[in-house]
Amino acid sequence: MAQTNVFASPHPLVATKLTKLREATTEPKKFRELIREISALMAYEATRDLLTRPVEVQTPLAQAGGVELREKLGLVPILRAGLGMVEGFWELMPSAEVWHIGLYRDEQSLQPVEYYNRLPVEPTVSVCLILDPMLATGGSAVATVDILKRWGVRKIKYVGLIAAPEGIANLSQHHPDVPIYLAAIDERLNDTGYILPGLGDAGDRQFGTA
Ligand code: URA
Repeated sequence: MAQTNVFASPHPLVATKLTKLREATTEPKKFRELIREISALMAYEATRDLLTRPVEVQTPLAQAGGVELREKLGLVPILRAGLGMVEGFWELMPSAEVWHIGLYRDEQSLQPVEYYNRLPVEPTVSVCLILDPMLATGGSAVATVDILKRWGVRKIKYVGLIAAPEGIANLSQHHPDVPIYLAAIDERLNDTGYILPGLGDAGDRQFGTA
């Protein structure tokens, strides 16, 4: 498996919060809170290499040299489980644009089918962070990167919480230029495409529809 572009956070706060997130007894309210908190920590990890430009500010005492972001950020949550990650990212980058992508899996072909995409003709951002907590087969992630590349965005990153090796392999093989940021890499997929040990259905657990 090509893993050079894969980053699994070693941060103890990510690991402890993820442990609580996995627990079957964690209620939807707590689950949403944990998704938001882990997402904020992952936002920190995934944005280390953003480009900045120098700026000067006036402190109460003197001029100080500082920086501002040079890149325009877009958050791209994959519906519906990616929605819960947006707030955590927005805490650190409140001016990021949010562009939702809706995909479902066709029962026959098992391929992702696009059902929601309101991207304008020209790209409005220079960096896109795809948000989806579970990188399972990788089908939706690959399709979303395809959409963003067709839109014209050059710098794309995938940010998830838990991945199966199968999903990492699929995304890395189709888009080796897209770095993958994760809180954990689990063992494998089961027969129905769920990640083991995973946390169950991330959408159902956030929205109380399990
Ligand atoms: N989607 C989920 O919500 N959970 C999985 O384990 C796999 C895909």
